[in-house]
This record gives sequence, structure tokens and C-alpha cells, in this order.
Amino acid sequence: MVIIMRTDADQRTIQGVIDKVADLGFTPHPIYGVEKTVVAVIGDKTQEKIETIASLPGVDRVVPIMEPYKLAARDVQPEGTRLDLGRGVTIGGEQIVMMAGPCAIESADQYLAIGRYVKAAGGSVLRGGIYKPRTSPHDFQGLREDGIPIMRQVREEFDILMISEILDPRDVELMYDVVDIFQIGTRNMQNFALLTECGRSEKPVVIKRGMCATLDDLLKAAEYVLIEDNPNVILCERGVRTFETQYRNTLDISAIPALKKMSHLPVIVDPSHAAGRPDIVPALCKAAIAAGADGLLVETHCSPQEAMVDGAQALDEFEFDQLMRDLQPFAEATKRRL
Ligand code: PEP
Ligand code: MN
Repeated sequence: MVIIMRTDADQRTIQGVIDKVADLGFTPHPIYGVEKTVVAVIGDKTQEKIETIASLPGVDRVVPIMEPYKLAARDVQPEGTRLDLGRGVTIGGEQIVMMAGPCAIESADQYLAIGRYVKAAGGSVLRGGIYKPRTSPHDFQGLREDGIPIMRQVREEFDILMISEILDPRDVELMYDVVDIFQIGTRNMQNFALLTECGRSEKPVVIKRGMCATLDDLLKAAEYVLIEDNPNVILCERGVRTFETQYRNTLDISAIPALKKMSHLPVIVDPSHAAGRPDIVPALCKAAIAAGADGLLVETHCSPQEAMVDGAQALDEFEFDQLMRDLQPFAEATKRRL
């Protein structure tokens, strides 16, 4: 169930409800929203206690959650969740957060060059893989530890947020100081140890939909982070496997409005891994904005033909710059801004 607190409930009253819920034998998960606080309560037999809890001081109402994803369910935050990502960037509000950069950090020169033009074009978050999950162990695995000082240098130089994929729970500590947003990739959407470890940190986490996962599966994966009391979860649609061979995956545009109905969490779209080719990426970005996405995660490289990973789908500098311009009217049409 979810306990919706009155907007005038002060911290002491909220704490009183949290303590009472714990006394009743449940695990309370307070979620402090922009306008109001809600307390999600997980546990068997919550139904029986609804009346007791509804009569506590400061409680507006109690809503039972029927969905298997309890903390991610829309009812927990009907107005939608806004997350503060740092450096003045908020996701889930008016801004469509543009995240862009190379698949992998390859060298300081490469990452500085890309960081410079992504920032200049108006990107808010720079992506860059330090550890790469490759289908074959023979392929480039990322610079690994050697990528960390490069990311640090570029982050400071351009005063920009960083997103990078985490592959191993043991790396939370290693990446903590340099990465602003952890990315859990499609291959790890159900890596429960990794989800739990990211939940134990305060950092925002982008969870990419598994390439064969349903939206229910994705939201249940989000629960693993939320249940550790890290509310900073962003869902990412990145294409699913289908029989079509013209593109790498099939971007499931329906997932955006559907997830928005199911959940209060921000939803972003990665058109690059869906397309696997750069020419249709702009159209997918526009479609994503039109469908209500809160952000985009786009691959771009200063020299796509020389990229060590995913060059075949990366936009070059000029294409990226053009994309940023072309998206403006789409943002405006949906009453958002880039
Ligand atoms: C990536 O972002 O480079 C990546 C590997 O993405 P995905 O997990 O969606 O394949
Ligand atoms: Mn990639």
C-alpha cells in the first residue's frame, strides 16, 4: 500500500507514521516528492491494517497497490517523479535531458574532443563507457580502470554530468567519485546483485530494458533499486529483439506512454542501440520526444569510422549538432525544453 501524506504534514508527523508502520511489522519506504511525501509499505497483510494507518495524524489517504511492482507504480507518485541529477539538471520535469557521447572512452584526446562539442551543442550529460559488456571476450572491453582519470579530466574541464555503464557490483566504489549516473545495460537488467548494490548508493541509475524483457520485468528490476531506498531510478527503452533485420533492434515507442502510465519514474530513450545505424536516429529521437520521453541517450563520435565500438551507429559531430537544432521544435511542441 501507499500512504499519501497531507501536504501540510511536517517531518515529525511523517516520522510518526513511519515509526508506527514499522511497529506494525512492515517495512516503510518514505519517498519525498516535490509537493508531498508518500510512504510505500511492503509486506504481507498490509490490507488488514489500512484502516489503522489511514487514521494516523497527517495521513491524507491510503492506496492499495495491486501491481507486482509496488514502489515504481504510478500510484506512489501520481504527479510523476522529478530527479535532481546535479549541476542544475532535473529529469522528469520540463527539460528533455540530452545525454550523448561515445560508446566507449578510447583516449583523452577522443573524449575531450567529443565532450567539447556535446557540451557546446547543449548536451547536459556526457556518456562514455569505461567497462564495455561485449558479446565476445575477444572484442575491446573498454579502457577499464585507465578510463577513470580520463573521465575525471573531461568532467572537470567541461563541468558536465557523466553517465557510464557499471558491470560489476564491486565497481560502485571505484566509479563513485567520477560517475554521476550509473547505467545498467540491457544484458544486466536482471543482474540482481548489481541492481541491489546500485540501490545502496544514492546515485541516479539508468536501467535499460532487457532486449527480451517485458515492461513488467523492467519495473520489477527497478524495484530492486527502489527497495534499497535509492529513489533515483530512470527507465530506458533501447529497442527489443524482433524478426526485423533492417535495424539492430526494434525501438518500442509504445513503451514510453505505457511506462508513463504504469510508473512514476522518468523514461528515457536510447535510439542508437535500437537503430544500429545513424541515419534513422534523428527520426527516432523525434518520435521519442513526441511520445513523452524525458530524455535521450545518443551515441556520437568525433570519427565514427575509427571508433573501437559501435561506430556504425554513431552520429558524427555535425550530425549531432544538426540533431540538437532539429529537436528544438519537437521539444517546444510538447511544451518541454532541451
Ligand atoms: C551502451 O550503451 O553502449 C550499451 C552497451 O547499451 P545496451 O546495454 O543498451 O546494449
Ligand atoms: Mn554502444
